[in-house]
Amino acid sequence: MKDISQLVRPNIAALQPYSTARDEYKGELGILLDANENPYDNGINRYPSTALKEQLRSRVAALKGVAPERLFLGNGSDEAIDLCYRVFCEPGRDNAVIMAPSYGMYSVCADINNVERRMVLLEPETFALPVEKMLGAADSNTKLMFICSPNNPTGNAFAVSEIERLAVAFGGILVVDEAYIDFSGKPGVLQLLEKYSNLIVLQTLSKAWGMAGLRIGLAMASPYIISIFKQVKYPYNIGTDTIALALEKLNGDIAPQVAEIVSERDRLAAELPSAGCVQKVYPSDANFLLIKVTDPRGLYNALLEQGVIVRDRSRVALCEGCLRITVGTPAENIKLEKCIYSYE
Ligand code: PMP
Repeated sequence: MKDISQLVRPNIAALQPYSTARDEYKGELGILLDANENPYDNGINRYPSTALKEQLRSRVAALKGVAPERLFLGNGSDEAIDLCYRVFCEPGRDNAVIMAPSYGMYSVCADINNVERRMVLLEPETFALPVEKMLGAADSNTKLMFICSPNNPTGNAFAVSEIERLAVAFGGILVVDEAYIDFSGKPGVLQLLEKYSNLIVLQTLSKAWGMAGLRIGLAMASPYIISIFKQVKYPYNIGTDTIALALEKLNGDIAPQVAEIVSERDRLAAELPSAGCVQKVYPSDANFLLIKVTDPRGLYNALLEQGVIVRDRSRVALCEGCLRITVGTPAENIKLEKCIYSYE
């Protein structure tokens, strides 16, 4: 096991975290005159209760099959991405190795935190993981390495064995973003958590669980890393109504929707290549397709005119000529297909 405490910034390791009024008081709720709240009950006049958040943490942990002390709940997984930088990277000195093309926030958070980013391109066309190149880009100041699987925007998931090679060989923290894992037929890497203390797995309730509007992201890692994330996050980072609504929505069964999205994805992937303007549909393990077309800007605008909004990725390295299309409802997908077929 690697000694992760050596990777934490000294100021964070020495942090005296803010202690909220509710953290200090553990007994039965009585007359609450400790947090400068408005005393008149309107349902949200109190700061979020730690007990309610712990209820959500236990519920999500059970769902994911991890111990609650291995789970951090953030204001979207974007919060967890930023926390990785704030906890591990000394601004102006440390760096992060980031695979590209991938989700933009790994780079944006590096820039915000004044952390050098070392972009390593995936293999062209196959979008395979360049394991040796990623390891080669790292030096003694590389604290983070970002992998996204299934990857946004290419759609492909990587083999567990390849990600494990990075976890073994990399001396820093390996962050594996599995925002789209629920749509993937391939296994994720949560099973590796107990084996590798330098692994952080990000997931989210924003995609398959249909709660993008709530902003709840998950970071799963060693209890040590999670305890540090909890010290560095803002106090009360998730609101009372958000927690309550998430608990309610987690009682639902997402399997039928996920199955329909996956079957629609596979149908679109099979049918779209017969449209004249579509040159290639890349294989996808996610809820979107990356398609290469003859005239990406023209098709983008034509779709827009019909009220269909997709993502133009044609100026992203290795995605030249490509649009990224989220799988919609069957009716939305039929409309999308009609527009693409009628585009000359
Ligand atoms: N990771 C990836 C790969 C994403 O594509 C996104 C959002 N599109 C996020 C994380 C952010 O998710 P959240 O809503 O949990 O902040």
